[in-house]
Amino acid sequence: MPRNAANKFLVTMALPYANGDIHLGHLLEAVQTDIFVRYQRLRGNEAVYVCADDTHGTPIELSALKRCITPDELIAQAHKDHLRDYTAFNIGFDIFYTTNSEENRGYAELIFENLRKNGLVVEHEINQYYCEHDKRFLPDRFITGTCPKCKAEKQYGDVCEACGATYEPTDLGDPLCAVCGKRPAMKQSKHFYVQLAKCEKFLREFVAKPGVLQDDMRNFVSTWINEGLREWCVSRDGPYFGFRIPGTKDKFFYVWLDAPIGYLSSTDRWCKDNGRTVGDYWSPQSGTRIVHFIGKDIVYFHALFWPVMLKNSDFNLPSNIFVHGFLNIGGEKMSKSRGTFILARDFISKIKHPQAPEYLRFFFGAKLAPSTADIDLAPGEFMNRVNTTLANNIGNLHHRTFVFCDRYFNKKIPAAPWDKTIAAEVESAAAEIERWYEETEYKSVVEQVHALGNRGNKYYQDSKPWELVKTDPDKAAVIMVTCANLIKAIAVFLKPMIPGICGSVERQLGMKLSWNDYRFSLSDTPLAVTEKLVLPLTDEDIAPLFGAAAPPQAMAGGMIDIDAFKSVDLRVARVLAAEKVEKSKKLLRLQVEIGNQRRQILAGIAESYAPDQLVGKLVIVVANLKPASLMGHKSEGMLLAAETGPGRFVVLTPDDDAVSGARVS
Ligand SMILES: [Zn+2]
Ligand SMILES: [Zn+2]
Repeated sequence: MPRNAANKFLVTMALPYANGDIHLGHLLEAVQTDIFVRYQRLRGNEAVYVCADDTHGTPIELSALKRCITPDELIAQAHKDHLRDYTAFNIGFDIFYTTNSEENRGYAELIFENLRKNGLVVEHEINQYYCEHDKRFLPDRFITGTCPKCKAEKQYGDVCEACGATYEPTDLGDPLCAVCGKRPAMKQSKHFYVQLAKCEKFLREFVAKPGVLQDDMRNFVSTWINEGLREWCVSRDGPYFGFRIPGTKDKFFYVWLDAPIGYLSSTDRWCKDNGRTVGDYWSPQSGTRIVHFIGKDIVYFHALFWPVMLKNSDFNLPSNIFVHGFLNIGGEKMSKSRGTFILARDFISKIKHPQAPEYLRFFFGAKLAPSTADIDLAPGEFMNRVNTTLANNIGNLHHRTFVFCDRYFNKKIPAAPWDKTIAAEVESAAAEIERWYEETEYKSVVEQVHALGNRGNKYYQDSKPWELVKTDPDKAAVIMVTCANLIKAIAVFLKPMIPGICGSVERQLGMKLSWNDYRFSLSDTPLAVTEKLVLPLTDEDIAPLFGAAAPPQAMAGGMIDIDAFKSVDLRVARVLAAEKVEKSKKLLRLQVEIGNQRRQILAGIAESYAPDQLVGKLVIVVANLKPASLMGHKSEGMLLAAETGPGRFVVLTPDDDAVSGARVS
């Protein structure tokens, strides 16, 4: 994708079908799209994010029938539920509209009329099942029978749920009406077909344009074209929940004709509400880049039907169709029977952690690349990714830096120059990150940011600001200025992925971050209150959602093993704060975080460690020790340390990144 490409974007994701709830698979796509949009806006580009519910077709009609409500009632409820779910994950649509709108009817009629004018529409008589009792033709979901392939009974007229075969309703054995159960008759019906083959040359040119499709998808689509493009039936017999085809008594547009037109009609609605015209985005001269994000199951519609519809009405063609893989849970396809079909609202209600939606965005970001390979959400990996990068790395750098500034520099980033080497490293990282965002290679963004966080923590640790502040405060100031600017840069780089967490950095710095703010600029800057940026995710947090996939581990008590050692609950903890205990030479009072719990622990290591040396460190503690009182202070655990000489100790710390709250055994 050229770097100096148009700075106006119209971005869409696939329209969710109104006959079902939003699940994590929908969210994967919504997050992928939302990150793209937020990145473009961060760069100062205009990006309009358009979505709608896809509301027509037989599954909606049949569901409404079963629930004794009208299709209109069904889609109204779905719209409310869908918008609530997306909003909970910070998906920032400009509009979330519906395909059951007058705008959509208008564009569907216009596009069909233009296809007809251009000689692409033909009519054929076909044989179809018809129920005399219900007075209707029986398309796909309105008919059941025996699968022609595997002979499974009670399969719908379009696809066999037992073997996955697809076929025509007329292929079914023992067909029955799905509404009344009676045997249908065969009846002739006339339908409209679009002759895609006439557009072969145009489609070949379209898919060959650089950037329109990923390489594997381009090959895939080219194969379809090479095999010969079949006619596409765009009509259904009434009654049908959808738009009647003008000039017919009882023919309706097939849902797949008007669904993608929802991109156009939702833009139109948004334009009306915002003083724009649809031509500002959908005219070929508008200079707008149309960007679609879709799953690999609907490539045929978006790469073949959709451009033909647009072209014949002289609308702007997609610049990019980004295709992603499916979401698996714990290495397996999402499945209702295995309990891995996870709905957005269950994710919210079962994981009580306040930052859980933001963490899911981050996790998807850390997995997403411009590839159509499936993506796996494994509970353990989810927790580790979040804790390793966000909590232990970036959250730690943020916490130790700003707590230090609060204490020694009077709640300010001190007035001092920054480390030029680190500023230059950030500059070159920014160039890489920019490229990765443009290419939707979000995974590499996360890797690069993680490396920057490691760099910052190592710099902090090696520079020993807690010593310098006493011997050479000017130098300690340089370290704080450098780390604070590095955190600002990291917040810029992650803002499209985790806008909520980065918002807390913005509040602290008192500025709204845009892309160019990755450059080092802060010095002598007052700070608002230091908020805890990231609270780690624990087994206990995620167990209610993933169930057996992540067995809950008792935080304290619940020691059922006979082995005496196993009754000691050893945990990795992070030191949040440390101070000397008055009138004691040996004791330090530590505030530690064990997973999402906070404890106060007294440790006899004051002769070996200055308090600041411990802040941010990962340590090992006994978590199930009965609380005790030492010199009038409560101690709720014990810190493990090795004696290196009389009264001298080194604390035990994990060899590599470990998660606060992790069990030690
Ligand atoms: Zn079958
Ligand atoms: Zn019937």
